[in-house]
Formats: sequence, C-alpha cells, structure tokens
Amino acid sequence: MENYRDQLIDGEMVAGSGPEFTSIDPYSEEPWAVFTEADESDVDRAVQAAARAFDGWRRTPGQERARLMNALADAIERDVDRLAEIETRDNGKIVRENRNQIQFAVRNFRYFAGLADKITGETKPLDSYTTFDFTTREPIGVCVLITAWNSPLQLLSNKLPPALAAGNTAVVKPSEFTTASTLEMARLAIEVGFPPGVINVVTGAGRTGAALVAHPSIDKISFTGGIETAKRIAASAAANIVPCSLELGGKSANIVFADAPFDKAVAGALGGIFAAAGQSCVAGSRLLVQEPIYERVVSAIAERAQQIRLGNPMDEQTQMGPLAHRPHYEKVLGHIADATEDGARLVTGGAPASELGGLFVRPTVFADVDNLSRLAQNEVFGPVLAVMPFTDEDDAIRIANDSRFGLAGGVWSNDITRALSVAREIRSGIMYVNTYRTSAAQAPSGGFKQSGYGRERGTEALADYTVVKNTMVDLTDKVRDPFVLGR
Ligand code: NDP
Repeated sequence: MENYRDQLIDGEMVAGSGPEFTSIDPYSEEPWAVFTEADESDVDRAVQAAARAFDGWRRTPGQERARLMNALADAIERDVDRLAEIETRDNGKIVRENRNQIQFAVRNFRYFAGLADKITGETKPLDSYTTFDFTTREPIGVCVLITAWNSPLQLLSNKLPPALAAGNTAVVKPSEFTTASTLEMARLAIEVGFPPGVINVVTGAGRTGAALVAHPSIDKISFTGGIETAKRIAASAAANIVPCSLELGGKSANIVFADAPFDKAVAGALGGIFAAAGQSCVAGSRLLVQEPIYERVVSAIAERAQQIRLGNPMDEQTQMGPLAHRPHYEKVLGHIADATEDGARLVTGGAPASELGGLFVRPTVFADVDNLSRLAQNEVFGPVLAVMPFTDEDDAIRIANDSRFGLAGGVWSNDITRALSVAREIRSGIMYVNTYRTSAAQAPSGGFKQSGYGRERGTEALADYTVVKNTMVDLTDKVRDPFVLGR
C-alpha cells in the first residue's frame, strides 16, 4: 500500500490528525494507497498558514511568481508519466487520457505564469479634469480550491495557476477518491521552492471540505463538483460573504444536422460521450439528430460503441476504463434502469461488462429518448448516451435549452450560418461547432443556469481571482467644502 498520509501545511508534509482512509483502484478493486483525513485543527492550520503567507506573496513581483509557477510546470511535466499512472490507479481513466490532461495542466500553469506580470488596471477619465483616477486589480486573499475526482490535476490547474498568478494563496482539497496526484504536486511545490503557506493541501472527504468552506479566514472559494454539494458550499459562502465560483455538471446537447460532415459528427458524438467513460462535465450526453439522418446516426453510433476497447486502463490500447468508484458505478446503473423503465429504446450496452471484473459499464446508447424523461434531464456522468430526433433549427434549440443545465453544447453542420445561428441561441457557457470536447488554456470555460457561475481558464479566470480597487487623487491644492460630495 502506498503511503500518502502527509498533507502540505505551511511548507511541510505532515500527517493529518483525523482517521486514515484508502483509495481503491477501480480496475482491481483493491485498496492501493492510504491517506489521513484533515480535521478542523488541520484545516485551521492550513488556512492560517495561507493567511500569513498572503502579504509576502501578493508583494512578490509577478515575474518571480511566474518563475516558481513555471518551475512547478516543468516538474509536473518531468513526472507526467508517473502522475498519469497515479491518477489512473485512483480513478480508472485510461492512462493516455490522464497523461494528456496532465500535459494540459502544465500548459495552464505556463499560460497563467505568463500573465502573472501583466495584471493591469485602467485610468479613468473623470468629469473633473483635476482628479486623477485609476483602478488596480488586487488579489483576494486565501482561496479554497475544491476539486472533483474525474480529472484531479487538470481541474486543479484551472484554479491554482490563476489564483497564484494574481497573488493569492491557496488551500486545496482534492476528492477523497483521487487524492494522490494532488499530494504529489504538493511535494513538487516544495521541491521547486514555493514559500511556506502559499500552497497548502488538506485531504479528506466532505467533512474536511465543509470545515474549509466555513472557515472565517478564507476569502474566496472555487469548487468543481456536483449540484447538491455546490448548494451547501454556496450557502456557506453566503454566510461569510465570501465570493464563490462553481463549476458544476451538465446535460449538454450535441446537435447533428442532416448536412453535417457525417463521419466527423459520428466520431465527435462518440468521443463526446464515451471518452473518459462519460465522466466528463462537458459530455455530449444528449445527441439531437435531424430526422432525415436519425436512424443512420443511431446505427453508426451503436456500431462504433460496440467496438470500443474496454480493459486495463494502464494499457495504451484501451479506449475505455472502469468507472471511478463503486457508489458512482451503482448510480450509473441506476440511471440505466430509470431509462429502461421510462421507455427509452436500448440500442446497445445497458449492462456491466462483468467478464472484465472492475467497475465497467458497457458503452450504452438509448434512442427515442423523451427530453422530459429522467435520462434526458439528469446528469449520468457515465457512458450513457440519450439520442433523440428533431425537425428543424427551432426544434433543436427548444430541446437543447429545455434543461436546468447550461454547461456545453455542440452543433454539426456544413452550413456555417446555420451552425452559428443555432450556437448563438443555446443557453450554455461553452459551444463547439464541428468539434467537441476541445479545450485550450486561453478559452474561458464555465456554465449558465445550474451548471454554475464564474469562469475558468483564459483572462476571464484572472478576473475571478482579483478584486478591483479604485483610487482617486486630487491634483489641486483647493480646500473643499467638507459637507458636500466631491465630484
Ligand atoms: P461532489 O460534489 O461529490 O464533490 C466535489 C468535491 O467537493 C470533492 O472534493 C468532495 O469531497 C467535496 N465535498 C463534498 N462535500 C462537501 C462539503 N459539504 N463542503 C465542501 N466540499 C465538499 O462531486 P464529485 O466529486 O462526485 O464530482 C462529480 C461532479 O463534478 C459531476 O456532477 C460533474 O459534472 C462535476 N464536474 C464539473 C466540471 C466542470 O468543470 N464544470 C468538471 C468535472 C466535474 P469528497 O469527494 O472527498 O467527498
């Protein structure tokens, strides 16, 4: 059993004071690593360390913050193979994809390092010529960064680099199911010389996260996870008037018009739902297909889904691994049962791949799904696709927007005017046209509606980790009337 009992608090790796917990490899279903839970006293020490480090870090020149962030990026890149294998043991995602996502995390660190010395304000021309006015963008303080289990380092790299670049300090809590790679990153942060307290990592489950978001000395929360947890966190943030960013789930509509590039659209639809075994926030889990090509698309997707290679996620040839943990696996099977009960037509899959052991669910396609049914309205976060027909643009837009979520969406059409007109009407924060599940450090990402608020990546993310200060300077020697508002 690998020993991950230590957490990063105030520059040192120290054991948490709470009970031990283990991570179970979803492929072998054996425990492979042991951790300790941070209790309230550990959480308090981590927050206090981050608060003490804040003044020094915010005054550190952007160039120096960038140097340390780039050094951490280099160390993560050096260790990418090892870190990817660790994540695969924790969450069962294929090692190729974890490697790819960790490389993306490296890119995020470098992108935000590049911005660390370019955070500027504005000068404002006021009505009064003799009053000079300028704004500065200042760091907020201690940021609590809480991540989900599907892409631990990649999700963290959407939060930690912009927070650090802007001069904030951080207390990170990874998911209890995928703690190891974040602790490895913590060790690398010590190795490259981050000052004590700038980055802290506490480990544990919901109890640890709850203690963290309720701590009176935190200044900002950024959370990636599910809606129910998000509601609790937002309530905690409200109680202390702490700003909060929420990156939540989705039920994204991938819309295929009859004039779409057929093979490209089928490949995009397939990857949109079955990559990462569907455990992706932007998964294109509702496939809307225009009537003339509906049956042809359903057949093509089903045929391709049956050919997906399931197996050991460490094997470079595997295309889909097991689901990340048993409670989640049971939940996904529950969604499949609901869809069957609600009358959707099962085209392929719909069952565990029991012969493989582990927590495998076969790539599943349901056709003729009613958009008001449970399968169409609830996030499965697994390899389950809901396909439904539509007639024209208005019908597609109506169905796509009939959801409480608004994270992502796709439009496939060779008519760019049609594609962009439809994309414009979809109430989602991320749209893809003739592509799906593409990411870039420069491109902002986040939701509409119950998919959350706040933006990650891009310069928009920096805005989320800064607060605007306005300063006015009187350039005259005039003594003003103290009893009327100066203008
Ligand atoms: P959860 O909401 O269960 O957990 C997310 C994180 O919050 C975990 O670290 C969890 O700890 C922690 N947590 C749990 N309870 C509390 C609490 N009361 N206070 C503070 N923290 C708490 O989500 P999952 O981990 O199951 O992740 C799946 C969800 O994440 C999906 O809905 C998915 O759509 C969403 N997601 C969104 C993304 C986006 O960018 N929009 C990207 C990826 C996923 P622990 O796990 O240890 O209990």
